[in-house]
Amino acid sequence: MSIAAWLRGLTSLFFPALCLGCRRAIEGHDQLLCVRCEAELPPNNSWRHTENEVTDRLAGRLPLVFGAAAYSFREGTVCQRLIHDLKYHHRPDVGRALGRRFGERLAGVEALADLHGIVPVPIHRRRRLQRGYNQAEAIADGLGEVLGVPTFPRALRRKSFRGSQTKRGKLERLENVRDSFALGRGDFAKRHLLLVDDVLTTGATLHFCGNALLEAHPDVRLSIAVLAVAER
Ligand SMILES: [Zn+2]
Repeated sequence: MSIAAWLRGLTSLFFPALCLGCRRAIEGHDQLLCVRCEAELPPNNSWRHTENEVTDRLAGRLPLVFGAAAYSFREGTVCQRLIHDLKYHHRPDVGRALGRRFGERLAGVEALADLHGIVPVPIHRRRRLQRGYNQAEAIADGLGEVLGVPTFPRALRRKSFRGSQTKRGKLERLENVRDSFALGRGDFAKRHLLLVDDVLTTGATLHFCGNALLEAHPDVRLSIAVLAVAER
């Protein structure tokens, strides 16, 4: 148990759990959201169609067996607050919990029947030190737990560390992402892997991650699951 988790456990003895959406007290410490905020987090079900918001965004760049997003991402929504807590407020448990929920929805999907394992999009080790964990790995762990497949957090490696990308121009960002990934460990020839990330925006990150795997492992088959797809 991490110190943060231990402290939360201790704190919950004296203080009620707070809803991550509206910060009001809620019953039950295993819940993330109050009933009202839960209703404001409508699941994205477009993955029920073979061609959907996720596969569309990677179309022509990465061949996919299956693509899915758990939620739609918009500014100022409950979904954004959950992902903010996951990334910036030391809450890997939020990623694992949402990953498990997503896994329950994806269990039994035929396209994933032969899934070999899950590859989280890597972050640079310096970022990992700052944050204490990789948020994509937390989501992957939750998903893998429910789907009954292992997570391969070292299948890919992030080479470059360039600080925040948010202030850079789109082209420059794309160039940065292109050279960012290197192959890690594992032999995945002919395997079916699920690439996992927190938010899908342009698709550049997943595109280059997927291609790094494809170049190295002949006939690897790829699917994608993201917590949220940013609305355009
Ligand atoms: Zn709430």
